[in-house]
Amino acid sequence: MILVVRGTEPPSLGPIRATQLAGLRSLRRPPQSSEIDGYKIVAENLWRAQHYKCCYCEQKIRKGFNDVEHYRPKASADRRPGCTQNHGYWWLSFTWDNLLFACPACNRSAKNNRFPIDHGSVSLIAEEPAPGGERPLLLNPASTINPVEHIEFVLETVGPAGSPQEWWARPRNGSLFGHMTIDVCDLNHTEQRELRSDHFDNIVRLHVNALNDALATAQGREVQREFDRALALLKPENLYVAFTYDALRSSIPGSKLQAAIQKRWPTPRQVGR
Ligand SMILES: [Zn+2]
Repeated sequence: MILVVRGTEPPSLGPIRATQLAGLRSLRRPPQSSEIDGYKIVAENLWRAQHYKCCYCEQKIRKGFNDVEHYRPKASADRRPGCTQNHGYWWLSFTWDNLLFACPACNRSAKNNRFPIDHGSVSLIAEEPAPGGERPLLLNPASTINPVEHIEFVLETVGPAGSPQEWWARPRNGSLFGHMTIDVCDLNHTEQRELRSDHFDNIVRLHVNALNDALATAQGREVQREFDRALALLKPENLYVAFTYDALRSSIPGSKLQAAIQKRWPTPRQVGR
């Protein structure tokens, strides 16, 4: 997960919001999920702003069969551990700042209606703007908190002897945000681990080998060239940027890089389009 920059709200959303919210308010009860509609008009805007990637797992996804994701769930919300109230945030269903684009695995299978908030924080009531007294524990990729500072990827053997080494998502420096986000988005699902391993084997490893070879045998200019090539993997439009950042850092000794070209791997940040 890396930072996402949505850009400005598309003009098409405002009229939809006005019409839909008027209809929902006329119900005089919390709406069902099926009664909340129309927000998908901005699916393409979000998809393009996110470089065609899921906002949580960074898979490349097609637009047609994927989902506009509500950071604060629209019809019901599981706020545990901090709160047991479960009403949804229907009034934020058409709020640009609450919308993201996610793959079905993250949105429907993993996150679904989960929205953990911290103990002692107060859930929003109907029509109240976010964040109010809420302290969400789910990282918001479109906020100012860089998810990379809260989630790291570590090569580990988990399970009985003989289990393969795999890249696991872990809370960086024990981050509670990292811990909850990994759990809510199921970032250690078997398929997620396999996709990360495949990305390392087919893309990252080539750069790691080339840069290590240059560090062992070549002059600074060659090292710089291989460093720049590897650095391109951290552009926000690429697959699994957050994972690649940790894979590069753990595969290339930072001290050698520093000694050869006085460089280090920069923390990925979305720079917008
Ligand atoms: Zn995903």
